Amino acid sequence: LKEAVYHYKKTELVSHLAASIAHEVRNPVTTVRGFLQLLSIEEKDERKRWYFNTIFDELDKAENIIADYLYFAKPQEKQKKTIQIDREFEKMINVVTPLANRNQVQVLSELPPYFTSGVPQLFQQAFINIMKNAIEAMPNGGKLNIDTFEREYEFIIIIKDTGHGMSKEQISKLFQPYFSTKGEKGTGLGLVVVQHIIESMNGKIEVKSELGKGTSFLITLPKDLVSQITYHEVASG
Ligand code: ADP
Ligand code: MG
Repeated sequence: LKEAVYHYKKTELVSHLAASIAHEVRNPVTTVRGFLQLLSIEEKDERKRWYFNTIFDELDKAENIIADYLYFAKPQEKQKKTIQIDREFEKMINVVTPLANRNQVQVLSELPPYFTSGVPQLFQQAFINIMKNAIEAMPNGGKLNIDTFEREYEFIIIIKDTGHGMSKEQISKLFQPYFSTKGEKGTGLGLVVVQHIIESMNGKIEVKSELGKGTSFLITLPKDLVSQITYHEVASG
């Protein structure tokens, strides 16, 4: 028993440290990338531009690893709250806009105020992962559409891209840990985390994809009916 208790405390400590380190490392990485970006704008020298691009690739790799592994560490905030999806998407779109700009991807969203319940930090992590994958599937530009459909007790969020799509075989491996077609740049953990989060919110996730045409992720989530009704009552006076 003593050993078990000791082991438990040790893993707690490790996951706590992992979370702190991930958070602490992420901020300087983001700052460094931002300033280097500013420096690189004026750079005309071919060789130096190549240096900059290599630096950006490596920083992106570091950022992806931190983002995907962060989930496995202890979340800072675990409490479920009411989530108003259009507000959350506004924030998330801001987060992925720099990446979208780099790939010349247009982000289009049309979102009514729907409410669900969950941990906002995790909700964001799930949809940022899906949007990042979509943008990464369009290295030469394209469109990322975010739409919703409403049902009585649930709604469906559709994240649709015009990227390279996937084969049947790729789709079947999509949610397996470490499955990635991105070589060194991928961790293959993004969608594992996404599935885990959506299931914890009593939601479902479906994928439709066609090689060379694009991919849609359809996420069904239960409505938070009380918030939904209260919102409409307030809105209509
Ligand atoms: P990673 O992004 O690190 O590769 P993910 O778990 O996020 O890991 O995704 C796994 C794989 O699923 C990707 O490497 C890619 O092959 C495929 N994939 C995910 N989303 C899309 C998408 N929108 N379009 C095409 N392929 C995708
Ligand atoms: Mg990913």
